[in-house]
Order: sequence, then structure tokens, then C-alpha cells
Amino acid sequence: MIPLVDLKAQYAAIRREIDAALQGVLDSCAFIKGANVAAFEREFAGFCGASGCATTGNGTDALYLALRALGITAGDEVITVANTFIATAEAITLAGAKPVFVDTLEGSMLLDPSALESAITSKTKAIAPVHLYGQPCDMDSVMDIAGRHGLLMVEDAAQAHGALWSGKPAGTLGHAGCFSFFPGKNLGAYGDGGAVISGDQELIRKIGLLSNHGRSDKYLHQMEGVNSRLDELQAAVLRVKLRYLREWTDKRNRVARLYIEALTGSNVKLPEVDGRSEPAWHLFVIRVGNRDELRARLKEQGVDTGVHYPVPLHLQPAYERFGMPEGSLPVTERHARQILSLPIYPELSGGQVAHVAEIVRKYARPVEN
Ligand SMILES: *Cc1c(COP(=O)(O)O)cnc(C)c1O
Repeated sequence: MIPLVDLKAQYAAIRREIDAALQGVLDSCAFIKGANVAAFEREFAGFCGASGCATTGNGTDALYLALRALGITAGDEVITVANTFIATAEAITLAGAKPVFVDTLEGSMLLDPSALESAITSKTKAIAPVHLYGQPCDMDSVMDIAGRHGLLMVEDAAQAHGALWSGKPAGTLGHAGCFSFFPGKNLGAYGDGGAVISGDQELIRKIGLLSNHGRSDKYLHQMEGVNSRLDELQAAVLRVKLRYLREWTDKRNRVARLYIEALTGSNVKLPEVDGRSEPAWHLFVIRVGNRDELRARLKEQGVDTGVHYPVPLHLQPAYERFGMPEGSLPVTERHARQILSLPIYPELSGGQVAHVAEIVRKYARPVEN
């Protein structure tokens, strides 16, 4: 049996350190805003090469609070993609703004910069590029467009901890970079968690305030905020795991390399990687003409797969109000029928990758386009 992700294998490998870190928090009985959160904020900023980090209760709130702290509000438009988890768009509507969905590129399945530029209106205030599957978007083009139009940029790096674009870490290219520590992410807590990084210390300070009821002192509130704090137990887990993140990312990238080698020359469309990008593979997403059938074949042989994501956001019932019918984003919609996420996690062995790839090679049919 090969699962899509295997959190148990990871815990087994670092159990002693994790248990000791959790016990330390229990012994201290300091559960909120203690030493582990402060230390993790410094250490994660260091990992990303950013000067500041503010943690939040989850990745959705990291995006929401970054947008809010940057002044995004009712009447504004924020451009993003429809091929992402709903959280990217939820953060935009939570801030009061309207998400404007644009199409993706054929090869990488990431934001299409020319579609982005065409979607800019007088109401556009920000761009939220999504570094989906662990691959940075074409940030040279996105930054050029943002610069020419004077737009803010909030990067959704929830799937891309430690990925690089032209040598620069994902999350450090825009005004703010947002991360999720949901358990299955490349850096995962044992519950929910999130963070915003930025080179703008004032912005980080403001997000810190917003995430903690706007308080500058226990009962002194500079503004209305929310309750969205990383807690000490999660921070203690994340500090242990952060020490392994580079090694785990290298192992994920090795799995991706093995898939690419094994599936080159097959019926499968592989994710294309830009020469300027160094991914931190979170999901390994292939495209085939017979996705559901191939998925069933893999399942029969004990291989779990996923679909990220089966219904693009503009076609979700939740976003009917934006009036984007089927056909609005042709590349994204076609991909949604073809994409299949293969198992990827640091502990996946070369033999297991070869086994999965062999089944895929045997049953995959080419895409029609
Ligand atoms: C996981 C994820 C989020 C949201 O993170 P949560 O911690 O689950 O709130 C946002 N964007 C993308 C692309 C994600 O994968």
C-alpha cells in the first residue's frame, strides 16, 4: 500500500525530539505567545531569508491578514488563479475584496502572466500569485507587471516552503509571502498553523497585532483584529521539523526527479519546470487523457492518488455570484479533467516510485488536445 502522503513515517523518524518538545510545553504550561512562537518566527524568517515573520492560526488567515494589513478592502479587486485551494480566494473575500480569476499556463499549470495583465482594471489593487504544487510562478513577469501597474503582491506560498525563483525564496519576492503549516504541507504542524514573511518590519508588526485582537498590551487594543495565533505546542513541533526541512525537501525533489526520468517518453504530460525555478515539490501532478480510469487502476494495485483540484474555483457553487460560466478559463478547466497527483513524500523509496511509474506507464492514455 502506497499512500499519497505518509505522516506516520515522518513522526516515527523524529519521535523522540517531537515528544520532548511537546513535553517541554506541557511542563511550562505556557500555551499561547510563549518562547517557542517567538523563536519559530525568527527561525522561519531565517530559513526563508526574510527579515520578519508573523505567525497566524492557519494559512488562510496568513493570506487574509496580509491583505488586510496592506490595506486591501471593499471595492478592490485582487487577481489570482482558479486552480488553487479555495483559501486563496476566501482570504480575498474576507478582506472585503473581489477575487478575479485568470487562466493558467499549459506546461506548468501556474498563473499565466499575459492573462494576468489583461485582467487588470482601475479597481485592481493586488495580485495573489500561487506557487502551486511547490513550483514558483513566473515571478519575473509577475513582478514586472506589478511594478508597471503599481500593484501590491501577496504570494500564496502555502505549498512552496523553500522553493526558489532565480535564487530567491518563494514568499520573499512580493510585499508579503504567506505559508500554511497544515499537517500535510511540506512543513506541517500537528494541527493548524500559518505565517507571513516580509522585508517590511512595520507590516509584520501590524499582522502580529491583527492576529492577536489588535492588542499592544493585555487590555489595550490599537485596532480590532482577530484571534488567529499559532500556539506553543504547534510552534514546538514546527521548530523540530524546520531543522529537517531542507533535507526533506531534497528528498521530495529526488522523488520528482525519479518520476520525471521514469515517465519521460510515456503518454503522460509531465509538469514543466522553468529554468529559473527550483521547486520544493509538494504535489507531483501529471496529466493524462484517462484520469479516472488510471486512478482506479492505481487504487486496485494499492497506490493512493489525489486530484488537486477537481473543480476550479470560478465553477464552485460558492463563487457562482462572480458569474464566470464554464468556458471562461479554458486551460484551467481542461486541466481539471486531466490532472492526477501521484504519491510524494520524503520517505518514498526509489523502488516505490518505480512501482508507481510502471503502473502509470502501462495504463496512461495521452490527453486529447
Ligand atoms: C493549504 C493552502 C492554503 C491554506 O492554508 P490553511 O493552513 O489550510 O488555512 C492556502 N493556499 C494554498 C494554495 C494551500 O494549499
